[in-house]
Order: sequence, then structure tokens, then C-alpha cells
Amino acid sequence: MFEKILIANRGEIALRVIRACKELGIRTLAVYSEADVDSLHVQLADEAICIGAPPSSESYLKIDRIMSAAEVGDVDAIHPGYGFLAENAHFAEVCESCKIKFIGPPASAMHAMGDKNSARACARKAGVSVTPGSDGIIESEEDAIKIAQRIGYPVMIKAVAGGGGRGMRAAHSEASLAPAFHGARMEAEKAFGNADVYLEKLIIHPHHIEFQIMADRHGHTVHLGERDCSIQRRNQKVIEECPSPLITPVLRKKMGAAAVKLAQSVGYENAGTIEFLVDNEGHYYFIEMNTRIQVEHTITEEVYGCDLVKEQIRIAAGERLSPHVAHPTPRLHALQCRINAEDPEKNFQPSPGKIVFYYAPGGRGVRIDSHAYTGYIVPPYYDSMIAKIITVGATRESAIDRMRRALDEYYITGIKTTVPFHSAIMRNAEFRAGTYDTGFVERVMASENFELKPASNRLHE
Ligand code: ADP
Ligand code: ADP
Ligand code: MG
Repeated sequence: MFEKILIANRGEIALRVIRACKELGIRTLAVYSEADVDSLHVQLADEAICIGAPPSSESYLKIDRIMSAAEVGDVDAIHPGYGFLAENAHFAEVCESCKIKFIGPPASAMHAMGDKNSARACARKAGVSVTPGSDGIIESEEDAIKIAQRIGYPVMIKAVAGGGGRGMRAAHSEASLAPAFHGARMEAEKAFGNADVYLEKLIIHPHHIEFQIMADRHGHTVHLGERDCSIQRRNQKVIEECPSPLITPVLRKKMGAAAVKLAQSVGYENAGTIEFLVDNEGHYYFIEMNTRIQVEHTITEEVYGCDLVKEQIRIAAGERLSPHVAHPTPRLHALQCRINAEDPEKNFQPSPGKIVFYYAPGGRGVRIDSHAYTGYIVPPYYDSMIAKIITVGATRESAIDRMRRALDEYYITGIKTTVPFHSAIMRNAEFRAGTYDTGFVERVMASENFELKPASNRLHE
């Protein structure tokens, strides 16, 4: 087993990894930017090294600085978390050439699945259905028009390098195709330094269903069921649940087998997620693979009773899948709400700044993964997520009621958060009925009777 691990990330996921290391008896080295001096991941790690200025391009994305820290700290592995360098195959290769274990898949699998276009090609080769669309990159407006005519409108123009819901545009007719093509290219160039786009059919009212894959080096690849991540704002997940209210045992078996087959076909190792869209008739289409741990891995952990981050570390050290992961058994129902430092009353504009008072909910069936505390200053430079609330219940209904109760207890002053937004969703009839799709949030927020729900206990007076 490893003796010391460097965590190349910040925020809640850095804490999550540090906690796993502590339980495994592994020493931890945190790296941080000048904006994160007072961050909990720096306080809780055994050692910490500053790697640069606040913008992530000057710190968390600087491979040379992170490798220097790894040298100085004499670590034997690096955990990249999610975001930042987690899906950067070059970074994985640099780690390898420095004889430091990258806790993730082999660089070859990251290359194969890293860009959405080649991931689609891999899926087709493995016999897994993908969204109908172009066979490769679209070079011109004319190309786009031809393919759209063939598959029929509406369509989606998507960046091959896309992530975080950025670099995609829908087109419902030929008139809107050219602006979508150029708009997606421009956004992709700005966000990812790669303007390449492809075209796929826009699936109407789909569910976003993703399968958790775990694979060891000894030929075992399994899935740990699905997560439903259809509650999205601007194509970004805000609430996730496990299992999905939509997926039947028969569909789960079929989609799970497809996910495992695809992962095996690229020699996958460690944790990964295969994402699908599912339409109302139960047809499923592969859209992408995330070759890393995901923000919402927590709900799978609660339902399958395992620790996916510890499992990642064990797999990277060459161990076999532990028995409960090799033979996964789901029980209970779990939900996760992503709490962001954003003002839901002002179109979710970022709300960084000092947290004057912080009190987190607790009690049975409630898990909080967060780096926030009283006095913590949320920096403006990074993702606005400050906490994840996970609740577990014997049934879907009890997990929802527990989430509603936990959200009411959350007491954060000094900054605005998305807690009142989540509170409103937990009371929404369509959400409670479990009949939502990816258009849910937009629909709900446009409806006349949508109201944010402030907590009503005396803590909040
Ligand atoms: P998923 O939820 O499927 O894992 P997302 O794209 O929604 O995928 O979440 C990963 C994204 O989170 C990254 O692409 C990045 O924008 C953002 N991110 C990166 N680092 C952090 C961090 N430390 N804390 C919160 N969010 C982060
Ligand atoms: P990202 O890398 O940003 O996560 P994805 O390809 O996973 O991009 O898509 C994110 C979300 O965008 C999906 O969960 C879905 O809600 C929406 N989306 C993407 N492609 C399509 C499509 N072809 N039809 C309908 N919705 C789509
Ligand atoms: Mg995705």
C-alpha cells in the first residue's frame, strides 16, 4: 500500500480523499493556491505546499508545480479528485514517467474516452448504442446541415472537449443551426482551448442515467448500479438520486451490461462513469464517459455500502476489488443536493465571501461533505459548490422527507446559497412523483407558483 499521497485538488473532494487516506493509514500532502491558505484541506492534511497564485491556471492546473511538490514531499501516488487535472491524460503520463502512481485509469483509456468523439467511436465499436449523429468532427456549417437533414431536427451541436454543461447548443431547425454551430465552437474554444464540435440528435425529455464502474487490474469489471442525474440547470447536475425512479430491473441489467462491456473494451481500470440518455420509451443512448471519481459518487456509496475513494486507492495499489464491490448489493435510497454559493433569487449569480455563521444539519441518515466552516471565505476563483448534502432512507419518500428536514436545518449566513432552491424542489409534486426529466428545473422555475422556500425554524429568525 502507498505511504503518502498528494491530493491535486481543493474543496470538498480534497477533504474526501484526505479522509479516505487517514482511514487507510496513508499520509497526505495537500497542495493549495494562495487563495486557499485557510482551507480545511490544508488544515487537515499531514503536510501542505503552496503551488501558486489564486487562478487555477496558476496553481491547480500547473503540472510542473504539482510534480515539484510531489518530489519535495516524496509521495508515491497522486489523487486528482474531479475537475482540474482529473481527466488530463498528459498529467497521468507525467506521473507515470516520474514513477508516481496516478490514482485513476491508465492514460490509454483516458485517451480513448477523453474526447466525446472518440468515446462515441469506442461505444459503436463495442456495440453500445450512441445518440444518432455525426461520425466525427463537423468542419463546416454545410456539413452540419447535411447531417441534420439526414437524422432530423432537433439536434445538438456539442464540443468534443466539453464538460460542466458548456460547449453545447440545441438547434430546432435549419435557421438556428448556423448560430448553434458557431456559438458552440466559440464557447468551446474559450472554455477548453479546442473548438472542435460534433452533432447528435437532441433527445426529447430524456433522463440522464449514469452507471458507476469499478475495475481492478486482475480482470474484474463491475457496475454499481445507476444514478439519475436528470435534475439539471443549464445541463449541469444539481440533484442526483440512486436508484433512478425510471429504471426497471430489466433495463438496469441491460444498461449495466452495456456499460461494463464498454469499459472492458478500452482496458479500463479504477473508477469511471458511463453516461446515457434514456428516452420515454426506454431507449438508451451512450453520451460520454467520465474517467474519474464523480461529484455524485456519494449516493452510490450510501446505497451499496462501500467507500469508492478507498476502493480507488486500493485498486491503484494493485489490490483486487473488495468483496462487497465485486458483488454489489443495493439497499435503501439516497439523494444528493449540491449546495452552491450562489443567489437563487438573482439568477444563481455567484455569491462568494465570508461565511459569518455556519451550522450543518446532522442526525440519522444525513451526510455532509463540505469544506465550509464559520469564518471561511469562499473565494471567487473556483467552482461555487460549497457542500453536498446526502440523505438516505428506506424508501425514496423517506429520503426526500429527510432531505427536506436537513435543508431546513442548514444555517449559513454571510453568503447566499442554493439551499432555498433545493427546499422548494423537495416539496414539488413532480419531483416527489419521480416523473421528472432533464427539462424539469426550467419548467418548474418558469411556472407561476414556483417560490424559493426559506427555512421556517427559529434558528433562521
Ligand atoms: P460530474 O458531476 O458528472 O462529476 P461535473 O462536470 O458536473 O461532472 O463536475 C465536475 C466539475 O466540477 C468540473 O468539470 C469542474 O467544473 C468542477 N470542479 C472542479 N474542481 C472542483 C472542486 N474542487 N470543487 C467543486 N467543483 C469542482
Ligand atoms: P458534459 O460533459 O458537459 O457533462 P454531457 O454530454 O454529459 O456533457 O451532457 C450534459 C447534459 O446535457 C446531459 O445530461 C443532458 O441533460 C444534456 N444533453 C447532452 N446531449 C444531449 C442530447 N443529445 N439530447 C438532449 N440532451 C442532451
Ligand atoms: Mg456529462
